[in-house]
This record gives sequence, structure tokens and C-alpha cells, in this order.
Amino acid sequence: MKINSICVQGGYTPGNGEPRQIPIVQSTTFKYDTSEDMGKLFDLEADGYFYSRLQNPTNDYVAAKIAQLEGGTAAMLTGSGQAANFFAMFNICECGDHIVSSSSIYGGTFNLIAVTMKKMGIDVTFVSPDASEDEINAAFTDKTKLVFGETIANPALTVLDIEKFAKCAHAHGVPLIVDNTFATPINCRPFEWGADIVTHSTTKYMDGHGACVGGAIVDHGSFDWMAHADKYPGLCTPDDSYHGVVYAEKFGKEGAFITKCTVQLMRDLGSVQSPQSAFMLNLGLESLHLRVKRHCENALAVAKYLKAQEKVAYVNYCSLEGDKYYELAQKYLPNGSCGVISFGLKGGRDAASTFMKNLKMGAIETHVADARTCCLNPATSTHRQLNDEQLIEAGVPAELIRISIGIEDEEDLIADISQALEKC
Ligand SMILES: *Cc1c(COP(=O)(O)O)cnc(C)c1O
Repeated sequence: MKINSICVQGGYTPGNGEPRQIPIVQSTTFKYDTSEDMGKLFDLEADGYFYSRLQNPTNDYVAAKIAQLEGGTAAMLTGSGQAANFFAMFNICECGDHIVSSSSIYGGTFNLIAVTMKKMGIDVTFVSPDASEDEINAAFTDKTKLVFGETIANPALTVLDIEKFAKCAHAHGVPLIVDNTFATPINCRPFEWGADIVTHSTTKYMDGHGACVGGAIVDHGSFDWMAHADKYPGLCTPDDSYHGVVYAEKFGKEGAFITKCTVQLMRDLGSVQSPQSAFMLNLGLESLHLRVKRHCENALAVAKYLKAQEKVAYVNYCSLEGDKYYELAQKYLPNGSCGVISFGLKGGRDAASTFMKNLKMGAIETHVADARTCCLNPATSTHRQLNDEQLIEAGVPAELIRISIGIEDEEDLIADISQALEKC
């Protein structure tokens, strides 16, 4: 199936007389005839369900669709994008280890790595997404276990040179994890450029309607853990909690990462997605290909319009000719990037506030990537604690407006933006 068909039909094929839509299996637990049957599940000797914190059929159908969309061999859902990124990293690094990460990433992920994982004894070196190969290579230590970046960073809208980061990661025998939330597999499939693990905040375009918080992790199934067994004891040496199973041996390159992540991390840390949410996520996925295309068309039209306005100081949008990331976007995102644009008004912070107050269709929200247009001034909201200098350092100067363009009518959106600009 091509990607448009996978959006609609991937992950679940009903048998004769079975429900056409994926069933919501609203059950914490599953029944077995004998203790021996259940014992096999606990020993990872048989496939099946026993408790919805670990696995649930509804979630598995949706995870399978996301795996197909990304071109991976295995996937799992999580309760949020934060959980997806934490699990993906913590699955292969522990106290004493080290991460190399792009500095241009979502604020929540930055905090997760720089503050919370640091408290767990995991160190990080941040590198600019624009760093040269030499600069990236210099960030590695003998304890580095992974490289992390975002295809299109939220909110800086930088584009990751996935091939370059993958090359550096593989030269050091570690995988590249890419958060593909903003691009979605419709616009970019990081595995095709060398990424090994992909994560998503499904809360954004995949759900697409601002309905459910969720996340996903997908494995490409190509990283050879056993070839680097000394680095990844969690995957390559026996796990006593499952009678000495060695994940990389028993489940191979295709299954080891997601199996371990499910049966260890989800078992111990929770953060599971509810089957109800997974069902809603699947409804979103059924139209992902249509919505993402429309988001991108609308956003490009708005970016072009803004760029031409006298009151606008600058526009950041990688699909817009002349943008700093235009060439990289042409390589990795030739069919469109995302619906999120950021821009600054010559009138500064006050003009930003006036503009946003006067928008009628674009609501002020701490959200992006849903069907409805919304906007945010990071300086007065998400980055409120920073002073003007720190705001510039963080890539979100005081006047910056982040606008997430929805799938409304393009003419209506431009008319709304135009009337709000007139008041500035
Ligand atoms: C929103 C977001 C996250 C966090 O996801 P939640 O679902 O809010 O936990 C992670 N990465 C990116 C790129 C995001 O935009």
C-alpha cells in the first residue's frame, strides 16, 4: 500500500464478520483457561494479552499503522509525546551514560534531557542543528549511547540534516533517534535518511483535532545491537525479570527495542495510552494525508502573504524560498513541511500582543498542529520566565509569534490576518 492507503487501512484488517472499524477493547485484563497458558505470556514464550498496562489490542492496531506509515518493523503507543521520547532514550541509556542532542528541540524535551534525565545520572552535550560533522563528532564520549534531534524543531522551525546526524551517530556505533512530530511520515520518513528510531507526539498532527494527548515510538529494525553489545547490556545480556531472556537474540533487530521498551519500561513506569485515546488517534490518522497537505498549502500561502507585508520584520518557514532552511527542506521535505510558521512584527512585543488579540479565527492557545488555527507569543506564555536577552538566546525573541495554520479556508485565514495586522 502507498502511504495514503496506509493512513486509511493500515494496521487492522478485519476477518469475516468482524467489525469494520477497529474495536475499542475497553478491558484492563484478559482471561485464560490455565495458569500454564498465562505463564507462557509472562515468560515471553507466547504472544498475547494479559494486562492493558503492557499491551492492548486497540493500541496495537494503531501502533501497527504508525509502524507502517514510518516504514518501521515495530511500534508502541505511549500516554504522551514526553513519555515516547523518555522511553525511547531511557530504553538504551542509564546512569553514567551520555546523550548527544540537537539544541534545537521542543522545550519539554530539552527540560527532560537537561534537567530530569541529568538527575538520573545521564549526561548530555547539546550541539547546534547547524553544527559541522567535526563539531558533532567532537561531542561524543565513550559513554554516548544515542543521538537525538527533531526533523522540524518546535518552536525554532530549524530542519535537521538527518543524513549528517545519522552518519555521525553510526560512526560512533550508536543509533539516531528522530522526533518526527511536525513533519509526520506524510512529509518525511526519517528511516529513509538513516534514522534508527522515530518518536511522535501524536497529540499534534496525527490526532490532528486537539482531542487526545499521546505518543508513539517506532523502530526501523536495522540497528545491530549485538554488534555493539558492550554498549547495550540491557538489550544484549540476560534480563532476570523474564528468566534470562536476551532481547536482541530472542526478538532480533526487528523486535528487540520495542519488546524491551514495552515489557520493562511500560511495565515499570506506566504512561500507557488508553484504548479510547488510541481509537480517536486512529480516526485522526485516517485523514492525516489529506489534512497535512492542506495545512502545508495554507501555511505556505500565509507565509508568502506575511513576507510581503510592510509591518512584518521576518518570517521563519522552511518551505518559503529564501528561508535559512529552504535547501534542507527541499531535500528532506520536498512535498511540504508543516503548518507552523513563526514571524516577528516591526512593532515588537506590543504589536505582537495587539495582533494576536485581534485575530478572530486564530485562537491564543498553548497548542499547535490541529485543524483549527492557533497562535502563541512564547515571551508572554511558555517562555515567560526569561528576560529579553535569554529569549533571543532561546531562539524566541520577545516579538516572535508562533502561528499554527489550520485547515480552514485560505482566503478566510489571510483576510483575518490582514485585519489583525491593520490594527498593529
Ligand atoms: C508537543 C511535543 C512533544 C511533547 O508531546 P506531548 O504529547 O505534549 O507530551 C514532543 N516533541 C515535539 C516536537 C512536540 O511538538
